[in-house]
Amino acid sequence: MRFAVLDGRAHLVSPHADALVDVEKASHGALPSDPWLCFAQWEKVLAIAGQQLRFDIPLDVSALQAPSPCPRQMFGIGLNYRSHAEESGMEIPKVPLTFPKFSSSVNSPNGDVPITGALVDFEAELVVVISHGGRNISQESAWSHIAGVCPGQDISDRGLQFSSTPPQFGLGKSRAGYSPFGPWLVSVDELANRDCLEISCSVNGIEMQRSLTNDLIFSVSQIIEFLSSVVELLPGDVIFTGTPGGVGVSRKPPLFLKSGDIITTTLTGIGTLTNHCI
Ligand code: ZN
Repeated sequence: MRFAVLDGRAHLVSPHADALVDVEKASHGALPSDPWLCFAQWEKVLAIAGQQLRFDIPLDVSALQAPSPCPRQMFGIGLNYRSHAEESGMEIPKVPLTFPKFSSSVNSPNGDVPITGALVDFEAELVVVISHGGRNISQESAWSHIAGVCPGQDISDRGLQFSSTPPQFGLGKSRAGYSPFGPWLVSVDELANRDCLEISCSVNGIEMQRSLTNDLIFSVSQIIEFLSSVVELLPGDVIFTGTPGGVGVSRKPPLFLKSGDIITTTLTGIGTLTNHCI
Protein backbone atom coordinates (compact mmCIF):
# COMPACT_ATOMS: atom_id res chain seq x y z
CA MET A 1 0.00 0.00 0.00
CA ARG A 2 1.13 3.50 -0.80
CA PHE A 3 -0.11 6.30 1.46
CA ALA A 4 0.02 9.96 0.41
CA VAL A 5 -1.25 13.32 1.69
CA LEU A 6 -3.05 15.82 -0.54
CA ASP A 7 -4.65 19.01 0.81
CA GLY A 8 -3.99 17.80 4.36
CA ARG A 9 -6.06 14.65 3.81
CA ALA A 10 -5.00 11.02 3.85
CA HIS A 11 -5.08 9.24 0.47
CA LEU A 12 -4.10 5.89 -0.99
CA VAL A 13 -2.15 5.67 -4.25
CA SER A 14 -3.25 3.41 -7.12
CA PRO A 15 -1.06 0.43 -8.10
CA HIS A 16 0.25 2.29 -11.17
CA ALA A 17 0.85 5.48 -9.14
CA ASP A 18 -1.37 7.50 -11.45
CA ALA A 19 -4.38 8.18 -9.21
CA LEU A 20 -5.49 8.63 -5.60
CA VAL A 21 -8.48 7.77 -3.47
CA ASP A 22 -9.47 9.72 -0.35
CA VAL A 23 -9.21 7.46 2.74
CA GLU A 24 -12.23 8.92 4.55
CA LYS A 25 -14.44 8.60 1.47
CA ALA A 26 -13.16 5.12 0.57
CA SER A 27 -13.97 3.94 4.10
CA HIS A 28 -17.42 5.60 4.05
CA GLY A 29 -16.42 7.67 7.05
CA ALA A 30 -15.06 4.78 9.12
CA LEU A 31 -11.57 6.27 8.90
CA PRO A 32 -10.68 9.95 9.42
CA SER A 33 -9.14 12.25 6.83
CA ASP A 34 -6.41 13.36 9.28
CA PRO A 35 -3.11 11.56 8.53
CA TRP A 36 -2.19 11.55 12.26
CA LEU A 37 -5.36 9.73 13.19
CA CYS A 38 -4.78 7.25 10.36
CA PHE A 39 -1.28 6.41 11.65
CA ALA A 40 -2.79 5.66 15.07
CA GLN A 41 -5.12 3.01 13.53
CA TRP A 42 -2.88 1.80 10.75
CA GLU A 43 -4.29 -1.76 10.63
CA LYS A 44 -7.63 -0.30 9.58
CA VAL A 45 -5.96 1.72 6.81
CA LEU A 46 -4.20 -1.43 5.58
CA ALA A 47 -7.55 -3.25 5.61
CA ILE A 48 -9.18 -0.54 3.46
CA ALA A 49 -6.27 -0.79 1.03
CA GLY A 50 -7.05 -4.48 0.57
CA GLN A 51 -10.54 -3.70 -0.72
CA GLN A 52 -11.71 -2.89 -4.24
CA LEU A 53 -11.13 0.87 -4.49
CA ARG A 54 -12.08 3.45 -7.09
CA PHE A 55 -9.06 5.72 -7.57
CA ASP A 56 -10.84 8.81 -8.83
CA ILE A 57 -8.30 11.64 -8.34
CA PRO A 58 -5.56 11.99 -10.99
CA LEU A 59 -2.18 11.96 -9.25
CA ASP A 60 -0.06 15.10 -9.59
CA VAL A 61 3.09 14.39 -7.58
CA SER A 62 3.95 18.10 -7.39
CA ALA A 63 0.73 18.69 -5.42
CA LEU A 64 1.50 16.09 -2.72
CA GLN A 65 2.56 17.08 0.78
CA ALA A 66 5.01 15.11 2.90
CA PRO A 67 3.24 11.86 3.86
CA SER A 68 3.40 12.90 7.54
CA PRO A 69 2.98 16.65 7.00
CA CYS A 70 3.12 17.85 10.61
CA PRO A 71 4.91 15.30 12.81
CA ARG A 72 4.99 16.02 16.54
CA GLN A 73 8.52 14.66 16.71
CA MET A 74 11.12 14.30 13.99
CA PHE A 75 14.47 12.64 14.67
CA GLY A 76 17.73 12.56 12.77
CA ILE A 77 20.46 9.95 13.30
CA GLY A 78 24.01 11.14 12.64
CA LEU A 79 27.08 9.21 11.44
CA ASN A 80 25.07 6.03 10.93
CA TYR A 81 27.00 4.65 7.92
CA ARG A 82 30.63 3.66 8.27
CA SER A 83 31.40 5.33 4.91
CA HIS A 84 30.01 8.67 6.19
CA ALA A 85 31.58 8.47 9.67
CA GLU A 86 34.97 7.81 8.04
CA GLU A 87 34.70 10.64 5.49
CA SER A 88 33.70 12.98 8.35
CA GLY A 89 36.78 11.99 10.33
CA MET A 90 34.58 11.23 13.33
CA GLU A 91 34.41 8.26 15.65
CA ILE A 92 31.77 5.59 15.05
CA PRO A 93 29.07 6.37 17.66
CA LYS A 94 28.52 3.83 20.45
CA VAL A 95 24.78 4.60 20.60
CA PRO A 96 22.62 6.19 17.85
CA LEU A 97 23.74 9.84 17.64
CA THR A 98 20.35 11.56 17.77
CA PHE A 99 19.34 15.13 17.01
CA PRO A 100 15.98 16.84 16.46
CA LYS A 101 14.87 18.03 13.05
CA PHE A 102 12.23 20.57 14.05
CA SER A 103 8.94 19.91 12.29
CA SER A 104 8.62 23.42 10.83
CA SER A 105 11.35 22.31 8.41
CA VAL A 106 9.12 19.67 6.75
CA ASN A 107 8.97 20.17 2.98
CA SER A 108 6.79 18.54 0.36
CA PRO A 109 8.42 15.82 -1.77
CA ASN A 110 8.97 18.11 -4.75
CA GLY A 111 9.25 21.35 -2.75
CA ASP A 112 11.85 24.02 -3.41
CA VAL A 113 14.82 24.19 -1.03
CA PRO A 114 15.86 27.76 -0.15
CA ILE A 115 19.66 28.03 -0.10
CA THR A 116 20.62 29.96 3.01
CA GLY A 117 24.37 30.32 2.58
CA ALA A 118 27.50 28.98 0.94
CA LEU A 119 27.69 25.73 2.94
CA VAL A 120 24.34 23.99 2.32
CA ASP A 121 24.68 20.23 1.82
CA PHE A 122 22.58 17.23 0.74
CA GLU A 123 22.06 13.99 2.72
CA ALA A 124 19.96 11.24 1.14
CA GLU A 125 18.33 9.06 3.81
CA LEU A 126 15.89 6.26 4.42
CA VAL A 127 12.95 7.81 6.31
CA VAL A 128 10.54 5.78 8.44
CA VAL A 129 7.21 7.00 9.84
CA ILE A 130 5.74 5.61 13.07
CA SER A 131 2.23 4.11 13.09
CA HIS A 132 1.15 3.24 16.62
CA GLY A 133 3.94 4.42 18.88
CA GLY A 134 4.91 3.59 22.42
CA ARG A 135 7.74 3.35 24.92
CA ASN A 136 10.30 0.59 25.37
CA ILE A 137 9.64 -1.00 21.96
CA SER A 138 11.87 -4.05 21.45
CA GLN A 139 14.00 -4.56 18.35
CA GLU A 140 11.93 -7.66 17.60
CA SER A 141 8.66 -5.70 17.38
CA ALA A 142 10.09 -2.44 16.00
CA TRP A 143 8.96 -2.90 12.39
CA SER A 144 5.36 -3.48 13.54
CA HIS A 145 5.40 0.13 14.81
CA ILE A 146 6.33 1.53 11.38
CA ALA A 147 3.64 2.73 8.97
CA GLY A 148 5.98 2.83 6.00
CA VAL A 149 9.20 4.05 4.44
CA CYS A 150 10.22 6.64 1.85
CA PRO A 151 13.30 8.58 0.76
CA GLY A 152 14.14 11.87 2.45
CA GLN A 153 16.70 14.66 2.35
CA ASP A 154 18.33 15.82 5.58
CA ILE A 155 19.43 19.14 4.07
CA SER A 156 22.20 20.57 6.26
CA ASP A 157 23.54 24.09 6.68
CA ARG A 158 27.12 23.10 7.59
CA GLY A 159 27.94 26.71 8.53
CA LEU A 160 25.24 26.76 11.20
CA GLN A 161 25.79 23.11 12.15
CA PHE A 162 29.45 23.71 12.98
CA SER A 163 29.11 27.29 14.21
CA SER A 164 29.81 26.18 17.77
CA THR A 165 31.53 23.37 19.64
CA PRO A 166 29.93 20.89 20.12
CA PRO A 167 28.00 21.29 16.87
CA GLN A 168 24.42 22.59 16.43
CA PHE A 169 22.98 19.60 14.60
CA GLY A 170 19.36 20.45 15.44
CA LEU A 171 19.30 23.98 14.09
CA GLY A 172 21.65 23.32 11.17
CA LYS A 173 19.20 20.73 9.85
CA SER A 174 15.95 22.58 10.56
CA ARG A 175 15.89 25.62 8.30
CA ALA A 176 12.76 26.21 6.20
CA GLY A 177 12.31 23.48 3.60
CA TYR A 178 15.25 21.40 4.86
CA SER A 179 13.25 18.22 5.45
CA PRO A 180 11.59 16.98 2.24
CA PHE A 181 10.39 13.37 2.27
CA GLY A 182 7.92 11.27 0.33
CA PRO A 183 6.37 11.32 -2.25
CA TRP A 184 4.37 8.61 -0.44
CA LEU A 185 4.92 5.94 2.19
CA VAL A 186 5.21 2.32 1.11
CA SER A 187 3.85 0.08 3.85
CA VAL A 188 6.19 -2.42 5.49
CA ASP A 189 4.29 -5.49 4.20
CA GLU A 190 5.28 -4.52 0.64
CA LEU A 191 9.03 -4.51 1.33
CA ALA A 192 10.69 -7.67 0.05
CA ASN A 193 13.84 -7.02 2.10
CA ARG A 194 13.18 -4.21 4.56
CA ASP A 195 16.71 -4.18 5.97
CA CYS A 196 18.40 -3.94 2.56
CA LEU A 197 16.93 -0.97 0.67
CA GLU A 198 18.93 1.11 -1.80
CA ILE A 199 19.21 4.86 -1.23
CA SER A 200 20.82 7.19 -3.76
CA CYS A 201 21.20 10.88 -4.51
CA SER A 202 22.25 12.90 -7.52
CA VAL A 203 22.77 16.63 -7.97
CA ASN A 204 22.10 17.97 -11.47
CA GLY A 205 22.07 14.38 -12.74
CA ILE A 206 25.50 13.47 -11.33
CA GLU A 207 25.44 10.67 -8.76
CA MET A 208 26.73 11.70 -5.34
CA GLN A 209 25.58 8.94 -2.99
CA ARG A 210 24.47 5.31 -3.30
CA SER A 211 24.26 2.72 -0.54
CA LEU A 212 22.29 -0.20 0.82
CA THR A 213 20.63 0.23 4.19
CA ASN A 214 22.17 -3.03 5.42
CA ASP A 215 25.28 -0.85 5.82
CA LEU A 216 23.59 1.12 8.61
CA ILE A 217 25.65 1.00 11.82
CA PHE A 218 22.43 1.04 13.86
CA SER A 219 19.57 -0.71 12.04
CA VAL A 220 16.05 0.69 11.94
CA SER A 221 15.04 -1.79 14.67
CA GLN A 222 17.95 -0.77 16.90
CA ILE A 223 17.16 2.94 16.39
CA ILE A 224 13.52 2.43 17.40
CA GLU A 225 14.47 0.38 20.46
CA PHE A 226 16.96 3.07 21.51
CA LEU A 227 14.71 6.10 20.89
CA SER A 228 11.69 4.53 22.57
CA SER A 229 13.78 3.69 25.65
CA VAL A 230 14.04 7.46 26.19
CA VAL A 231 10.99 9.14 24.59
CA GLU A 232 7.50 7.99 23.71
CA LEU A 233 7.20 7.53 19.96
CA LEU A 234 3.94 8.97 18.64
CA PRO A 235 1.85 8.19 15.55
CA GLY A 236 3.22 10.10 12.57
CA ASP A 237 6.68 10.66 14.09
CA VAL A 238 9.42 10.76 11.46
CA ILE A 239 12.92 9.26 11.72
CA PHE A 240 15.71 10.19 9.29
CA THR A 241 17.99 7.17 9.71
CA GLY A 242 21.34 8.63 8.57
CA THR A 243 23.19 9.31 5.34
CA PRO A 244 25.85 7.26 3.55
CA GLY A 245 29.20 8.59 2.31
CA GLY A 246 29.43 11.08 -0.54
CA VAL A 247 28.01 14.25 1.04
CA GLY A 248 29.21 17.58 -0.36
CA VAL A 249 31.29 18.76 2.60
CA SER A 250 33.52 15.65 2.44
CA ARG A 251 34.12 15.70 -1.32
CA LYS A 252 37.42 16.85 -2.74
CA PRO A 253 36.93 19.60 -3.66
CA PRO A 254 33.82 20.20 -1.52
CA LEU A 255 30.55 20.61 -3.39
CA PHE A 256 27.76 22.67 -1.84
CA LEU A 257 24.27 23.35 -3.11
CA LYS A 258 23.49 26.58 -4.94
CA SER A 259 20.41 28.17 -6.42
CA GLY A 260 19.38 26.37 -9.63
CA ASP A 261 20.62 22.93 -8.54
CA ILE A 262 18.27 19.96 -8.74
CA ILE A 263 18.56 17.28 -6.05
CA THR A 264 17.15 13.85 -6.95
CA THR A 265 16.79 11.37 -4.10
CA THR A 266 15.61 7.81 -4.69
CA LEU A 267 14.76 4.83 -2.53
CA THR A 268 14.85 2.16 -5.24
CA GLY A 269 11.44 0.67 -5.97
CA ILE A 270 9.79 3.00 -3.40
CA GLY A 271 9.89 6.56 -4.74
CA THR A 272 11.86 9.61 -5.79
CA LEU A 273 12.05 13.20 -4.54
CA THR A 274 12.98 16.02 -6.89
CA ASN A 275 13.92 19.26 -5.14
CA HIS A 276 14.95 22.49 -6.85
CA CYS A 277 17.32 24.76 -4.95
CA ILE A 278 16.27 28.40 -5.00
ZN1 ZN B 1 21.47 13.19 8.14
